[in-house]
Amino acid sequence: MDTFQQHVIDPAICIRCNTCEDTCPLDAVSHDSRNYVVDPEICNACGACISPCPTGAIDNWRAVVKGAAYSLEEQFSWDDLPEENAALAGITPEHDAIGGEDAVAIQAVDTARGSATAPRSAASPTTNLYGIKRPAEATIAGNFRLTGAETASDVRHIVLDFGSLPFPVLEGQSIGVIPPGTDAAGRPHHARQYSIASPRNGERPGYNNLSLTVKRVAAGQDGNAVDGVCSNYLCDLEKGATVKVIGPFGASFLMPDTPLSPLLMICTGTGSAPMRAMTERRRRLNHPGDENRLMLFFGARTPEELPYFGPLKKLPNRFIDVNLAFSRVPGSPKRYVQDALMERISDVAQLLADPGTHIYVCGLRGMEDGVIAALSAAADAGALDWPNLHAEMKREGRIHFETY
Ligand code: NAP
Repeated sequence: MDTFQQHVIDPAICIRCNTCEDTCPLDAVSHDSRNYVVDPEICNACGACISPCPTGAIDNWRAVVKGAAYSLEEQFSWDDLPEENAALAGITPEHDAIGGEDAVAIQAVDTARGSATAPRSAASPTTNLYGIKRPAEATIAGNFRLTGAETASDVRHIVLDFGSLPFPVLEGQSIGVIPPGTDAAGRPHHARQYSIASPRNGERPGYNNLSLTVKRVAAGQDGNAVDGVCSNYLCDLEKGATVKVIGPFGASFLMPDTPLSPLLMICTGTGSAPMRAMTERRRRLNHPGDENRLMLFFGARTPEELPYFGPLKKLPNRFIDVNLAFSRVPGSPKRYVQDALMERISDVAQLLADPGTHIYVCGLRGMEDGVIAALSAAADAGALDWPNLHAEMKREGRIHFETY
């Protein structure tokens, strides 16, 4: 019987972060409002999508008879993966056998901007401790508005406490929150992903808690009114309420555990969450000599809409070099993080030349092109070969993107 291992995505674990669809060099992954699916006619099991997936939902395979693969329609209808076909099980997944010429082929299609691996010195992350079928329960310990009351943008700092339940996290990881209730089709809502905004030892040091930076979604990308199911749920929660949490997720967007490594952090809006976590980690470490090593580029519409504006302004310059870019300040020209990077081009070039520098980019997907162009220009200004340096940083886990 002619069989093969069909690549499928586990809908019970998937947090719909779109990483697989973005990574697939063949555009074999697509999604509807519910599920992410893999087209068996296109997927060649190259494996490019496997390691970037934060949950491992992507790494599922089902032995099927050729010509009888699960169709896209079937995959869109799944709430769980179908059982293994015992008669066909035991066939080696083709992606396990990648090597030699296949490996070269994968390298040739490696168009990702960030590294799929963590920095060499990063602490080992715990991932997937809690899943959809056995979520952790956390209690809201605080819910504070971060943005000015006069702005339409309602961004909140939400603290979750896990009590005595183990929930170990590292800076740069994320969690999934399961909103209660069902969608229009009567199925339970899927989990939404949020980056952790606090360091590994808790929002409050020594406490088993963590924080999130959540923006209330009131409009879609097209500007039409939509109520974000999970963001509105979270933003409305009061202290003492309980929430279902899965994760933690993420094994690459992690900071080096070398306390003096320079960090170049570039973010927009709520993409500041992991930058806050990393900055606070370094501040708490308070390592002798940790001066002039953190450089932050942070974009928001206005100062009133920039999360953590007040606390950021209080950090000493010698600890963190903060560069803010505002795009909608009346009477001022639109300014993006990439413009701010260009204004500091020689300092950025100096950071790029340091083999210990790690770069983190988080926020709007649209910023990626501009940020890469600015980094490339800075490399040129420092007489560095950007394509080579970029490839080296990716190999060494020193450049990371998390954009949506
Ligand atoms: P936002 O307020 O819509 O935008 C922040 C700033 O980025 C604004 O000044 C905006 O300018 C600017 N911007 C727009 N296009 C840009 C471009 N091409 N290059 C550079 N800057 C650009 O941001 P937000 O609503 O907070 O969204 C942040 C994003 O981060 C979301 O997509 C979110 O999903 C993602 N994220 C969130 C988390 C989390 O934990 N909450 C974690 C990771 C990522 P204008 O709009 O004025 O043009």
